[in-house]
Amino acid sequence: MAFAGENAEKGWQWHETTSPHFAVSHEMAWTPPGFVMDLEKIHGRLRMDLGMLSPWMAKERIKLYLYKDPQSYLAGEFNPPSWSNGLALFELKAVAVPDNPDRKDLLRVIAHEMTHMLFESYWWESKKRPPAWLNEGLAMMEEADSPDRPERSPWYQLMVLAKPGTFLPLEQFFAITPTKDLHNQDTIGDWYVQAYSITYFLYRGHQRLQFKNFCSNLRDGRPLFESLWLAYRYHDAPALEKDWKQWLSRPEQRVRVDKAMAAARREAQSQQEGKTKVPFSPSVIRPTRIKPMKGFRSLRE
Ligand SMILES: [Zn+2]
Repeated sequence: MAFAGENAEKGWQWHETTSPHFAVSHEMAWTPPGFVMDLEKIHGRLRMDLGMLSPWMAKERIKLYLYKDPQSYLAGEFNPPSWSNGLALFELKAVAVPDNPDRKDLLRVIAHEMTHMLFESYWWESKKRPPAWLNEGLAMMEEADSPDRPERSPWYQLMVLAKPGTFLPLEQFFAITPTKDLHNQDTIGDWYVQAYSITYFLYRGHQRLQFKNFCSNLRDGRPLFESLWLAYRYHDAPALEKDWKQWLSRPEQRVRVDKAMAAARREAQSQQEGKTKVPFSPSVIRPTRIKPMKGFRSLRE
């Protein structure tokens, strides 16, 4: 007891919990119940998709800094910008986030930031940064709690329900860095959904190895369309655009999404008592327009 004040003053109130793949530093005395198991689940999922790019993740522990609340996170040692709700620190192989009473949301942010961290560490081996659309698209894809039921992800739903004309011609889309080039909230939202969609299509709509080859060619400095050609045999933007749009407009996409949204609505209705707000429930999302969440801008450029 005598040391409590001194410890607090020196910032020694942090605690550490380790698991096979994580070293969690947490400001609270305990991690939330089941938290470390949930982290291991995310790790298993990300390893399936990103282990081929960042094989170190199998052996080295990832550091996770869990702050007790957003105030403490914002005042913390990593100096996050005020709009951010998570940081990917690839130099440290670490992720920093504030605790969030909405557990699902917390895990979604962690999966998003972990993906940035793993993917950026892969690029950093060649002292490069990934293209914004690919980095964000991948992080959004990995937010989903199950790769087998992607239609439950709000991004997937927004992608399928988007009106024709929402998305930019691909050549224009690839040239954009949202933090620099986009200023309108709706356009930013659309850009993110498109980034998700193209990345999802290139990853899940093809062989995993093709995605690896694509990234490796890009990282070697080959131009985007040469890399697309080498990995996917798309020789130009219209060829990719045609295939992507055909995939997007398959009737079964709409059926899947309608079913998932109906199921989410039923679930929300049955859980309604005691809850005034269901954060990011698919049933409260408008089909074609979204406001960027704070996590959107976690790409730090
Ligand atoms: Zn991000």
